[in-house]
Amino acid sequence: MVHLSDDSIYSLTFEHATLGAEAAAHLHTCAACQARASASRDIADALRVARFSAPSPAQRERLLALASLVQTSSTGQRIVGWLRAQLAMDTRAAPLASGVRGMDVAYRLLYAAPALDVELMVEPANATRTIHGALLPHTQGDEGDTALVQLEDGEKTRFDTETSADGRFTFRHVQPGVYRLWIVRADSAEVVLEMLEIS
Ligand SMILES: [Zn+2]
Repeated sequence: MVHLSDDSIYSLTFEHATLGAEAAAHLHTCAACQARASASRDIADALRVARFSAPSPAQRERLLALASLVQTSSTGQRIVGWLRAQLAMDTRAAPLASGVRGMDVAYRLLYAAPALDVELMVEPANATRTIHGALLPHTQGDEGDTALVQLEDGEKTRFDTETSADGRFTFRHVQPGVYRLWIVRADSAEVVLEMLEIS
C-alpha cells in the first residue's frame, strides 16, 4: 500500500486539486491518509494566510511542517486556535503626540500576548503608511523561525508577509483604517491583534 505523498495531501487541501483514480481509491480505504488529509484541512481552516492567498513555496514548506506537527502530536493538542494580544502601549496617547494634531508623525504600538510581544512602528508615507513590525518572544530561543504575518481589514484588503529570522516584517502602502493582524508560528497558537487602528 502506497500512502499519498505530502504533495498530494497539500494539493488536495490548499489547491483543491482532485486525485487520480488510484490515489482517490487509496484515500477512500486508508485511515492513515484520511487522518493526514483531515489534519491538513484543520490547518487550512486555521491559517488565514492559506485560506486567502496562494502560499509562496517557502510558506508552503511551513504549512506542510505545521501539518506534520499536528499529525505527530501525541497529546492530542492542536495548534489550531488563537490567542488575543492586548494593546499595551500607544504613543499616540502621549501628550506630546496629541499636541501635534494634524501632523503626520510616526508612532509606536506595543501589543502583549501570552508568548510574545509585538511592536509596530507606523510611519506616514504620503497618503499611506509603512508598518515596521517586530515579534519579541518572551522566551529566549523562540527566535529563529520565521512566522507568517497577515494584515486584513475584514473586507478585501489583505497583506501577507513572512518575518525575517529575527522576527521583523514590513507592510507598505497600508491605508489608514482598522485591521486585524494575524501571526502564525510553527510551534504555537496563532496570535491575533484585533481592532488595530492605523491612523
Ligand atoms: Zn494511506
